[in-house]
Amino acid sequence: MDKRWESLPCGYLSMTPQGVILDVNDKFLEMGNYTRANLISNHIESIMSLANKLLFHSCFYPFIQLNGYVDEIYFNLKGSNGTDIPVLFNGKYYEQTEVVDCIFVHMGKRIDYEQEIRNAKILLEEAYREKDAALAKMEQLHLELEQKQTELLKLNDKLETLSTTDGLTGLKNRRFFIEKLREYLLQYTQTNSPFSLLILDIDHFKSVNDTQGHLIGDKVLIRLAKILTEFFPKEHIIARYGGEEFVVIMPFTNEEKSLNEAELLRSTIQTAKWEIPKITVSIGVATTSNPNETTISILAQADKALYFSKDNGRNKVTHATLK
Ligand code: GH3
Ligand code: MG
Ligand code: MG
Repeated sequence: MDKRWESLPCGYLSMTPQGVILDVNDKFLEMGNYTRANLISNHIESIMSLANKLLFHSCFYPFIQLNGYVDEIYFNLKGSNGTDIPVLFNGKYYEQTEVVDCIFVHMGKRIDYEQEIRNAKILLEEAYREKDAALAKMEQLHLELEQKQTELLKLNDKLETLSTTDGLTGLKNRRFFIEKLREYLLQYTQTNSPFSLLILDIDHFKSVNDTQGHLIGDKVLIRLAKILTEFFPKEHIIARYGGEEFVVIMPFTNEEKSLNEAELLRSTIQTAKWEIPKITVSIGVATTSNPNETTISILAQADKALYFSKDNGRNKVTHATLK
């Protein structure tokens, strides 16, 4: 065998079709740390484990006899010190000379690569699992966040309602009323659509408290709030201004209409069925009349009209400009 043949970059072995080794190159010896003397004239199965011998019997002999060659058989040779040497093996049978030429390529690196790929796959699967778990956790947190936001919105609504409601009567409070009055005035200056403001004060309410007690006084305020709510349409803003004073914003209501409605309200209160002490009310009404109107000016007009009603015998209605 010439020098290049001896040091081919793969192991070479020739054998009889029955498996008796005839020749090997140096590279093959090097692969298994064999000596030529130990191999020549010995059977190829002498450098195989039992499992590989079985594979050889079931694969190699029948195939090479049938087809004259074998390709890409993958198995382990047994090195001289007993270690497994993974190899890829091709063989070709020459009928004339009755020789099988075989080449062996050491597969150690490929196995390392395969192991690395397997390890990477395990790591990747682990990472996917962690990603899925993190996503599930994130989804759960997202749900919790949405729930909390809904709760917060509800709470805000509740707070908003509380901050604009009068605790005793359930009507809107003074803060809310002033805000609305500002809005209506702005709208009035922009569209010139009039509205009226009504102020109502219970007559001699102090004496109700003094004679019947504070709790009965409270009941009167609650009953009056109910009458007001039933009396006015929904779009009217009814609020407790403070103490025993109530205010109503009457949208799109001019002087005449506001006076008529106030009068009807006064008599409704007077004739209402009261299980608790009967009361009457005095009312003052003002209607927007000039574009420079402010919350203070319109409140002052209605208040002045109220005091006119008080000064003129109570249980009366006065309009600021229709006295
Ligand atoms: P006038 O006809 O001049 O309005 O007489 P009045 O007695 O109604 O007026 P005054 O301002 O002298 O008294 C108002 C009373 O309203 C005094 C106060 O004790 C009572 N009052 C104010 N807020 C409440 C409340 O929330 N509950 C009860 N029970 N009484 C209240
Ligand atoms: Mg008062
Ligand atoms: Mg009063």
